[in-house]
Amino acid sequence: MAKYIFITGGVVSSLGKGVAAASCGALLQSRGYSVHARKFDPYLNIDPGTMSPFQHGEVYVTNDGFETDLDLGYYERFLGIKLTRNDSISGGRIYWDVLNAERHGDYLGATVQMIPHVSNKIKEYISAPTDTDFVVCEIGGTVGDIEGKIFLESIRQFANDVGRKNVMFIHLTLAPYLEKSGELKTKPTQMSVRTLLENGIQADMLIVRTPRMLSSEERAKIGMFCNLPAKNVISGLDVDNIYKIPLAYDAQHVFDIIAAHFDLPNASGNTDKFHKIERYLSADLPEVTIGIVGKYFDVPDAYKSLNEALFHAGVHNNVHVKLKKINAELFSPEEAKGVDGILVPGGFGARGVEGKIAAAKYARENNIPYMGICLGMQVAVIEFARNVLGIEDADSTEFSKNCTPVISIMAEHDSANMGGTLRLGAYSCNISPDTLAEKVYGQTQISERHRHRYEMDISLEEKFAEKGLIISGRSPDGKLPEIIELKNHPFFMAAQFHPEFQSSPYTGHPFFNAFISAAAKRVG
Ligand code: GLN
Repeated sequence: MAKYIFITGGVVSSLGKGVAAASCGALLQSRGYSVHARKFDPYLNIDPGTMSPFQHGEVYVTNDGFETDLDLGYYERFLGIKLTRNDSISGGRIYWDVLNAERHGDYLGATVQMIPHVSNKIKEYISAPTDTDFVVCEIGGTVGDIEGKIFLESIRQFANDVGRKNVMFIHLTLAPYLEKSGELKTKPTQMSVRTLLENGIQADMLIVRTPRMLSSEERAKIGMFCNLPAKNVISGLDVDNIYKIPLAYDAQHVFDIIAAHFDLPNASGNTDKFHKIERYLSADLPEVTIGIVGKYFDVPDAYKSLNEALFHAGVHNNVHVKLKKINAELFSPEEAKGVDGILVPGGFGARGVEGKIAAAKYARENNIPYMGICLGMQVAVIEFARNVLGIEDADSTEFSKNCTPVISIMAEHDSANMGGTLRLGAYSCNISPDTLAEKVYGQTQISERHRHRYEMDISLEEKFAEKGLIISGRSPDGKLPEIIELKNHPFFMAAQFHPEFQSSPYTGHPFFNAFISAAAKRVG
């Protein structure tokens, strides 16, 4: 059976439990252990797919087409693992399962209760088998939240069921610094650990978010009040880049603390990949400016995976990538002056589309490297149809009903699979030989994740090809264009899928790496 590490948080929300959990997992991996990750969110939505990106940032998509919150992205990126719908579980989903089972008569007339029925359901999801040595489970929310109580109860029971030695509880808290008295205050941490204890959970390790390192006196004090060895109290310092966190934990012997808890042999780890990023961050490197023509810039984290992927590609290419946010609604060639590449990301709805079309035109006509993602491919197709093929009213049926549709919902594909809903998750794509796409990916068979409703009309392929826009990637049945590119352009490639969901900090992603490399050539 896998060993379990549960990560909870207290005092305030947004302490970065996801990154902390991922970093602990990364240290285990660095010592050769395999790690899986899961996230439990106590809220009552059945899944995060319907939650407003204005509240939650980007919607992350797993291979199996589940729309999750962006924490799953941290896990996949840090740990290089693939997660599924069973790794992102909300309170709503648990209750939904239990109530459906009740209606179905599965409880055979028993009184259905929080304990054991809801807690058993939670434990079922926790203990779903993995083939890894460890499972890191993050419990969303803040200790003390009403809806989180049943989750704490369930992990308490779980530890009792499988044996306390097989489970470790790591708790994140905050030690605020009081400017006036010049002190770090430990009381909120004490209170938070006490709340956890009221639920029957003794924290085995604390990660205390603080603006400066805890002194040994402060660690001893926290340890005494919170009932754990001072050496298990870690400083969670603010850092300017999340990939520094595994190294910061390693320096504080986090692996050794985990190893001592689980009776693992001592081991020194291989943390080269994090050192590489650390060295990159402080290196004096050429700067490449990418103009992102989008419209969700006011929403923190709306382009989380995209920003990550661009950062990763910077690491890969040894250049610093500077992002210039260009509001699509205000796009003009003036705005794009000085950028080394133009990226049009995914998006929904007509607002800002004309600006994105203008951005694609600008990139095409001025030989500026262009990368289009999902909507960014669709606008490139519309632009080409209008301005090169001369179909003045070319558009997507998403934006105009009275147009010559070059992008539309594919009736055949739709009725077969999706009932007008989104095409979600990983799909294979066949790449045509001797294309830019083949050069970029280095292979002709790839799989990438989707989240969209509309598709380019493939019956127009020849018309486009005659003028130099070719379809270089398509679905295995040959019916859905997945990648387009321009001949006679230094780098103009766009895809119907979202490559950013599969980018890795350690290797980047072929599409982003190639785009940044093309943009870097302009810097010289
Ligand atoms: N709105 C477009 C569609 O639904 C593009 C979606 C996207 O960019 N993710 O097809």
